[in-house]
Amino acid sequence: MTDRLPATLDIAIIGAGAAGIAAARAVAGQPLTVAVLEARDRIGGRAHTVGFDGVGLDMGAGWLHSADENLLAARAAAEGFTVDRTPPPWERQAFDHEMSRAEQVEFRTAFAAFEDRVAEAAANGEEGPASSLFEAGNRWNPRIDAISGALNGARFDQVSIRDYDAYRDTGINWRVAEGYGRFVTHLGERLPILTACPVTRIDRSGPALKLHTPRGVVEARAVIVTVPTDLIAREHLRFDPPLPSLVEAAAGLPLGLASKLHMTVAGHQDFSPDSQLWGRTDTADTAGYHLRPFGRPMIEAWFGGDIARQLEAEGQSAFHAFATDELVNLLGSDMRRRLAPVVGSMWGADPWSSGAYSHALPGQAGDRARLKAPVENRIFIAGEATAEAVYGTVHGAWMEGERAAREALAALGLDAGPAPGDEEA
Ligand SMILES: Cc1cc2nc3c(=O)[nH]c(=O)nc-3n(C[C@H](O)[C@H](O)[C@H](O)COP(=O)(O)OP(=O)(O)OC[C@H]3O[C@@H](n4cnc5c(N)ncnc54)[C@H](O)[C@@H]3O)c2cc1C
Repeated sequence: MTDRLPATLDIAIIGAGAAGIAAARAVAGQPLTVAVLEARDRIGGRAHTVGFDGVGLDMGAGWLHSADENLLAARAAAEGFTVDRTPPPWERQAFDHEMSRAEQVEFRTAFAAFEDRVAEAAANGEEGPASSLFEAGNRWNPRIDAISGALNGARFDQVSIRDYDAYRDTGINWRVAEGYGRFVTHLGERLPILTACPVTRIDRSGPALKLHTPRGVVEARAVIVTVPTDLIAREHLRFDPPLPSLVEAAAGLPLGLASKLHMTVAGHQDFSPDSQLWGRTDTADTAGYHLRPFGRPMIEAWFGGDIARQLEAEGQSAFHAFATDELVNLLGSDMRRRLAPVVGSMWGADPWSSGAYSHALPGQAGDRARLKAPVENRIFIAGEATAEAVYGTVHGAWMEGERAAREALAALGLDAGPAPGDEEA
């Protein structure tokens, strides 16, 4: 970390989330002046772990998706973090009274058939809302939309067919026991990062880019911008002269909302470790419950899409009230006294994220490529939203940070360095 805002830089990196940290590591060791300007007073962005009772609770990213291929999984182990390979809870429904075994099979079949229709439509060049491929009258449509709340932070009527189809995942999901956020933060240690330094405007009218911050103006030859899409779309970070095509591309990739509430549960032995329940099957306005994550005496409630927005609008305590009502309904009235809230997220209200992760609106599948196109070979955009096949993930953001760093180095006439994922800080 560093305290002083330099007057000039070769490369300025805006944002110290996964993409910004990856970019900073990728340019470290080059004969360049570099700084990361971070708005919050902490680093890690949407990968953020909060300590509780000696353990780490992830408020944002928790899963190393595609873990068998995820470059961060190998790195976490190499850096001394504990990579937990317990299968994810969504593969183990607790109790059979929420959905019978037969209904679980029926739902999985309906979801697989929906995804097949999406793949077929995308292969045929069709575009539009993914919900247009729901089977009319299918009783599982609300649950499919609830899953979209978790995957996209929005219902399928807000999700592009082609973009949803473009996502790639190996289906292997691991966790960092100490916290994914802690691990990402660890990777940002010893980098030249200025916290509490929001960039409000990038003046690109002259030969040097001028970055305006409340701590002064810094000039840079190149800038890597890693802020969430909504902040570009709403021009919380403004380009001057404006870049309407970039702003439009960001607007096509809004952040959906996913929220977490960590609770303790008394009598945790009644629940199988790392299993799951959903509140209801007849509506998307329901929550998922990860019972006893890592075997802990806790429940992690997960709210996606519309219900997350509604509860955020009502305030933090509304999440606990909603989760308690659903769990009482499923498991009996004594759940009311057994649950105690520990900590919950408010990513939508957070001015430096304004949501959870990006989804492409129907018709906007091409916006990820548009967003990442370099501007004047000196402004490079990176983050989860530009990761065309692994958007909405930490490893996607990481790889995009590295990609933007290579482009910035090349623009400054420097060797882009080792292959992706091989760089050392
Ligand atoms: C609830 C939730 C669950 C998730 N679960 C998973 C999961 O299980 N697995 C997974 O891989 N991913 C998950 N994600 C997504 C993952 O967290 C993100 O995709 C990833 O962390 C995004 O990294 P990024 O660098 O693109 O953006 P960010 O992490 O948002 O970093 C951008 C940084 O820019 C800063 N910033 C913003 N505006 C300015 C400004 N004007 N000036 C300076 N700095 C600014 C922000 O403070 C932030 O630190 C989850 C996210 C949420 C919210």
